[in-house]
Amino acid sequence: MKAMLLKAPNTPLTLEDVPDPEPGPGEAVARVLACGAGLTVHHARAGRLKLDLPRILGHEIAGEIVATGAGVTDVKRGDGVTAYFYLSCGACRWCRVNRETLCDNFGGYVGREIDGGYAEYIKLPARSFIAIPEGLDWRKFPAEAGVICDAIATPLKVTRKARLAPTDTVAVFGAGGGLGVHMLAVARWAHARKVIAVDLMASKFEACVKAGADATVDASEGRVTEQLMELTGGKGIDVAIDFVSSAATLEAAIAALGKGGRIVTLGGHGGTFTASAGAMLRKEIEVLGSRYASRQEVIESLELVARGELAPMVSEKVPLAEAEAIHERLGNGVVTGRAALMMDMR
Ligand SMILES: [Zn+2]
Repeated sequence: MKAMLLKAPNTPLTLEDVPDPEPGPGEAVARVLACGAGLTVHHARAGRLKLDLPRILGHEIAGEIVATGAGVTDVKRGDGVTAYFYLSCGACRWCRVNRETLCDNFGGYVGREIDGGYAEYIKLPARSFIAIPEGLDWRKFPAEAGVICDAIATPLKVTRKARLAPTDTVAVFGAGGGLGVHMLAVARWAHARKVIAVDLMASKFEACVKAGADATVDASEGRVTEQLMELTGGKGIDVAIDFVSSAATLEAAIAALGKGGRIVTLGGHGGTFTASAGAMLRKEIEVLGSRYASRQEVIESLELVARGELAPMVSEKVPLAEAEAIHERLGNGVVTGRAALMMDMR
């Protein structure tokens, strides 16, 4: 099969012929129709994560099961599927309560510890595949179906974690990115009173407004906290969702929180930031971390899209062979929304 390989850290992905994967016991193989390309994948391409190489990256797939190994009952030939990104055990106390992202026996990620979806076929533990429900035309819209498992599921979890209510004003930091635009749309869907997009690149604001933002804050002008205060009549925001999670964004976001404010951090490189314990106490501020989504939230995201409640937004579609060009654009921060690789596009 054809696959895009990462052969050495931070080098261009190259198109290669590799053996077709064969399913072992408990495994299944899907023909990949499309695979999303986002910043999470780009961190691996850019050498910011330790990987065994060569590796096939990518996890936001839509595909069709073509072969199953011994003992597989989760999926069968012909099923339309997407993938659960985390390799969780399914048996520990965290997995049992739908908090697989805290799995005690965490095995890593699809497209990092095992080969992913930048290829014509993908082999995974059968339980890592999730069936795409009736009513979602994955053959016609494989890119859109593929990105749901992360781009919609991750924001859906955030709305629950932050207890997003219809009376809340929400600010999304890094709003122009793939997860950011979907977060704006999901916050809108959750009936937030006001959704504010914060980004460094004003060129992304048109897409942010289209996705559901009521207002935009150009972070390149500085004064982010002050701009958010002006937009809320001095009250401050109720929920800050930070996909950038640098010290600067976290500190600006926390300073802009009003009474009862919540901040959710999802990105960044694990740095530290400073917050006022006094303000935290007086305003009863909550600082929350959120990683990806539960398997159940992926299933619910697929159902919400199938019902027409939410729509994934794929802004750029390119053939598999052009993966490197998309990653160059991801690295430069110029992709607005989500990009996807199409296996049948020539
Ligand atoms: Zn587990």
